[in-house]
Amino acid sequence: MTYTQADSAYDHLWMHFTRMSSYRDTPPPMIVRGDGAYIYDSQGKRYLDGLSGLFVVQAGHGREELAEAAAKQARELAFFPLWGGYSHPAAVELAERLAGYAPGDLNKVFFTTGGGEAVETAWKAAKQYFKLTGKPRKYKVISRAVAYHGTPHGALSITGIPEAKMDFEPLVPGAHKVPNTNFYRAAEISGVPSLAEDEATFGRWAADQVEQAILMEGPDTVAAVFVEPVQNSGGCITPPPGYFERLREICDTYDVLLVSDEVICAFGRLGTMFGAQRYGYQPDIITCAKGMTSGYSPIGAAILSDRIAAPFYEGTNMFGHGYTFGGHPVSASVALANLDIFEREGLTQHVLDNQAAFRATLEKLRDLPIVGDVRGDGYFYGIELVKDKATKETFDEEESERLLRGFMSGALFEAGLYCRADDRGDPVVQLSPPLICEQEHFDEIESVLRDVLTRAGKLL
Ligand code: PLP
Repeated sequence: MTYTQADSAYDHLWMHFTRMSSYRDTPPPMIVRGDGAYIYDSQGKRYLDGLSGLFVVQAGHGREELAEAAAKQARELAFFPLWGGYSHPAAVELAERLAGYAPGDLNKVFFTTGGGEAVETAWKAAKQYFKLTGKPRKYKVISRAVAYHGTPHGALSITGIPEAKMDFEPLVPGAHKVPNTNFYRAAEISGVPSLAEDEATFGRWAADQVEQAILMEGPDTVAAVFVEPVQNSGGCITPPPGYFERLREICDTYDVLLVSDEVICAFGRLGTMFGAQRYGYQPDIITCAKGMTSGYSPIGAAILSDRIAAPFYEGTNMFGHGYTFGGHPVSASVALANLDIFEREGLTQHVLDNQAAFRATLEKLRDLPIVGDVRGDGYFYGIELVKDKATKETFDEEESERLLRGFMSGALFEAGLYCRADDRGDPVVQLSPPLICEQEHFDEIESVLRDVLTRAGKLL
């Protein structure tokens, strides 16, 4: 028997968040090429990339000019660090460009190689900021149930998914959780059935939970609140009206930094360059990564306000933190070229122009008995699946395993749609297509989902 690439994959490639035993006898899908909104496997079969890789490929696959930008920079200066006082033009130019896009006085850009590092950076910066400004006891963070913020120890502590953390505990102390804003589950989450009647009232309640947590921990110990504009994990949990306004007020009252984790929501995902702009709030720090290069090279960043950065810029003070590859020249150049595409093709406006059509197309699926909720904004949607639509009863562990992992993930892919069936929290199908997508792609997504969800419903 010949030794195939599939054999090699099992023998040597340890895939992320993957049950490796599943691939002992079954080769993993091998994606070899991308073009626009589509990816192709090693057999030449085409799939609609309904997740932009992993919320990454905003401008779509196969962009020659991004490959060219990488090659040009690598020829000129492949690598130099931003470490110990050195800089390079691509990082400077990108930092200025990001500061220009970011809301308010978010003008200081600290580069990382990805999102988890950006979150880690934000927490460390928040801690040191308070040490530098005479409040050394402020180190704790508040974040929301079921939210995912990355895998480094600090970011994992901030993550609100107990199953993602338990194998690695003890984690970093000081990370406290509050309820999220899943309005579909408002009654369950709050324990107050009447809160399910009005989204703004529920939002007020949810924001007030942050205040309660700050008061319970002691305001002089809390450094930051980490929230996504739209929470991915748990299925595109959008902010109720007034939620961020109240959150900003609470943060100001108790001198707590508002960190907007936009690792997914930045770079057009919601139709604005940054997610905070979609909902009109002003963060103290934005964390971002993924879409900055549309995935053609890795990079991330924490973007901090002038106010938070100020004490770091004084005298002998410094932020003793960094990454060898943070702000890598090739990635920074690719990011600039990617942002040029955003400008030239009006990608954020394209999302704004087409988001209603995307929503309307997905909303059609509500007629299926298994579809409990369709929620999201921009090009970022979650479809929550339920066992019983009337009672909103969700699946038990065995059903979730059988339906989501056993059937749906494979069936969706088989039917030509790459997306994610996720059961961190309530079971959802996550959709986050490239920002170039249009009605024909929405229709394709709807038609595959209709077929697979109908079949899934019959397995219950
Ligand atoms: N924060 C959020 C909101 C994310 O969605 C993710 C990844 O999906 C991360 C942080 C971690 O990013 P990375 O995988 O680049 O470390």
